[in-house]
Amino acid sequence: MPPSPLRKRTRLIAWLGAAVVIGLDALIATPVGLPVLYFVPIVMAAMRLPRAELLLLALVCSAARIFFGPVGDPLSLARVTFTVGEDAQLVSNAVSTVVGYVGAGWLVVTLATQQRAIRALADETERDPLTGLANRRALELFQLEEAGRLASVLALDLDHFKRINDTHGHAAGDAVLREVARRLSPLVRQGDLVARVGGEEILVILKGAGDAVAHRVAQSACEAVRGAPVEVEGGSVDVTTSVGVAVGPLDDALLARADAALYAAKAAGRDRWVSDTSPA
Ligand code: GH3
Ligand code: MG
Ligand code: MG
Repeated sequence: MPPSPLRKRTRLIAWLGAAVVIGLDALIATPVGLPVLYFVPIVMAAMRLPRAELLLLALVCSAARIFFGPVGDPLSLARVTFTVGEDAQLVSNAVSTVVGYVGAGWLVVTLATQQRAIRALADETERDPLTGLANRRALELFQLEEAGRLASVLALDLDHFKRINDTHGHAAGDAVLREVARRLSPLVRQGDLVARVGGEEILVILKGAGDAVAHRVAQSACEAVRGAPVEVEGGSVDVTTSVGVAVGPLDDALLARADAALYAAKAAGRDRWVSDTSPA
């Protein structure tokens, strides 16, 4: 996999940062606090770069600090060895510098990895395993966060889905659900919600969207689902969806209005969208 742009930028900044700190260390005679500056590129590397590269950067920084740093470095644990003699102190200084920089990087890497794992687990609890869409729990959290703010709710229910299951089998039904999820996801913006809230019921919530956007997305959703037959094992299936649209401050009543509009769309013959403000 090629490195992400974020990793490329971090790499550039971390190594450039290290070069600047090393340059300062070489040019300026031991200003207090300079050893601490080395932690900046090291911690940056720890956040995003591979461990081998972090190790290399920490070792390069350690080498520079050992080379430019004076005996009796204020950060060094080696001060306790003053009485033993200068050689012992130099070695001790070097060891504590390497341990300090590499250790700090390793600590940050470990904490960042743990945080990522915790976040991934939390994401899993908010995802529907079949389609990868958000689930009911994610919907509840979204509703809490966006309560009272303007939103457009699109309630989708696939048409005659029982027939698809009955004719092609449950596995084909599942494949249709996955494909529908794949077609709907690109229709919304980052931060909007596409959640599978029931068997073949999907709720789309567009943050801050008024009627014009809601109607455009509802139309696109109908077209995307109808657009091309879904390939399943042993054939292909024509799929359509009905959509109910409601626009207003987000609350349970708004969801109920979208649901009512959905039933109106079913009653009006399916494969269409109906807005509760502009009945078909
Ligand atoms: P309508 O146009 O009125 O919506 O007709 P419908 O047949 O789609 O009716 P309804 O929405 O009530 O049926 C939903 C069906 O979806 C019932 C159930 O067999 C099926 N279903 C629910 N969950 C799943 C699932 O996870 N996988 C599959 N394959 N089918 C499911
Ligand atoms: Mg249905
Ligand atoms: Mg249904």
